Amino acid sequence: MSEPTAPVPPEDPRARLQERILADHPRLGPDDGFQFACHPGISCFNRCCADVNIFLSPYDVLRLKKRLGMPSGEFLQKHVLMPVHKDMKTPVVLLRMNDDEHKTCPFLTDQGCGVYSDRPWPCRMYPLGLAAAKDTPDGWRGERFYFLLREEGCRGFEEGPRQWTVREWLEDQGIEDYDLWGEQFKELTLHEFFEKGGTLSPEKMHMMFTACYDLDSFRDFVFGSTLLSRFEVDEDFVEEMRYDDEALLRFAFLWLRFSLFGEPTVKAKAKVVEAFMNSLDKRELFDKGPGKAPEEETR
Ligand code: SF4
Ligand code: SF4
Repeated sequence: MSEPTAPVPPEDPRARLQERILADHPRLGPDDGFQFACHPGISCFNRCCADVNIFLSPYDVLRLKKRLGMPSGEFLQKHVLMPVHKDMKTPVVLLRMNDDEHKTCPFLTDQGCGVYSDRPWPCRMYPLGLAAAKDTPDGWRGERFYFLLREEGCRGFEEGPRQWTVREWLEDQGIEDYDLWGEQFKELTLHEFFEKGGTLSPEKMHMMFTACYDLDSFRDFVFGSTLLSRFEVDEDFVEEMRYDDEALLRFAFLWLRFSLFGEPTVKAKAKVVEAFMNSLDKRELFDKGPGKAPEEETR
């Protein structure tokens, strides 16, 4: 099964896409049904795995780089595009199509998807899309609903009598893990910091990109810097992070919520807090004027 997604508009890609979907598509709930089948014998087989914009989540990248046995840096260099637009609040990565006549997906084979069990979330979801209404107190996180994408030339809707409910399709396609990771990622991308107009400096954008998508470089940062000596991180968790990308991504999300938005998701060690307080004391002293001890002021 493959996934044509809607083309990315040149600006503000995710928000504009959501707005268009809300206007154009009937909403489906978990128990609503639809008819669809995709299989190697179908006349359109493999045609949709070309010239499509597929946004990759951090978990998509984690699964794909593991599947391909590649370090994250190599995967990013070979297989993703990083569009940049002034309105983008967080880094975005897209799967890079081949530079051939049809712009085919690099993972496409004559037999279908060559990374099928690790295919990205949008490829699993098709023909379903997921959206959320914005006019709720928690922004895009509110009122989730599904809708049917009917890509031109897709014969899957005419195939056989197979009926699915939305719930059955999601289960069949193994969406649950992807959704769980997606929810954690949304805690970052939909953070109230952005709702209130906050923007990330280039350095913080880079930190977010590295922690979300370039896990091997993030691992070098975690284990090659003073981070672990400055923050309280459970020893077993630290050992897990050395070898397990999922543990590392869990920490990456916690670290980003702390370092980008100041949430107490990571705790500084007592000695670091003490040193920080001492430095504040010294600054206070300095602000009162060079050479003046507090006692002098009271004389
Ligand atoms: S990852 Fe697989 S399913 Fe998705 S576009 Fe590529 S070949 Fe098709
Ligand atoms: S049925 Fe649709 S999803 Fe399946 S191969 Fe054809 S175009 Fe792609």
